[in-house]
Amino acid sequence: KDINTIAALYKSSVLKPAAKVQFQPNPSLLDRISLFQGDITRVDVDAIVNAANRSLLGGGGVDGAIHAAAGHKLLEECRGLNGCLTGESKITRGYKLPARHIIHTVGPVYTFRDKEEKAAQLTSCYKTSLELAVDNAIRHIAFPSISTGIYSYPIADATHIALNTARMFLDSEQGRKFERVIFVVWSNEDKHVYEKLIPEYFPPA
Ligand code: ADP
Repeated sequence: KDINTIAALYKSSVLKPAAKVQFQPNPSLLDRISLFQGDITRVDVDAIVNAANRSLLGGGGVDGAIHAAAGHKLLEECRGLNGCLTGESKITRGYKLPARHIIHTVGPVYTFRDKEEKAAQLTSCYKTSLELAVDNAIRHIAFPSISTGIYSYPIADATHIALNTARMFLDSEQGRKFERVIFVVWSNEDKHVYEKLIPEYFPPA
């Protein structure tokens, strides 16, 4: 897919009947999320989120793809940030990307034993990214599925956290200024998980 405009992303949002309603239906919220399958480095939005590691100096997976696409000036800016703690987020410019900014967030490495702590850290990744976006007058943001690749977080659990945190944020006072949260998936499997769970958090009226 080479769809990378907001309009095209809007058309790709998933609208299906709610399986389990956990929030009051709000049709305007459905207009404010999208699901997009493809390469996040091609998405033309105010900010894309990078699933980084604590060094912020690049790595594999989506992190490697973002550094490769943004160019070496990104690495230079990241060197000045002195890393980032797990669950926290830092912002840079987007350089050669269509996105104006990159929000680097450090997801937890999953271990079943500490799953409560991991869930809190993953929630914090989404929350701090969204707060940082608002502080920087960003109006649309694209998230990859943080921690679910090399860091092994189970996709369904991680997707519940992503959707719940986005919903709470969009409902909040500061979230009202926000236009759109785009969830970017790479695999068909992950896409199906999002398609199944989105109606639970963003039920149509
Ligand atoms: P983590 O280390 O946080 O687990 P990964 O980069 O390994 O991060 O994986 C996070 C998710 O990003 C995975 O679902 C992976 O398939 C996906 N991914 C990898 N490359 C891209 C890309 N270019 N665009 C969007 N998603 C990507």
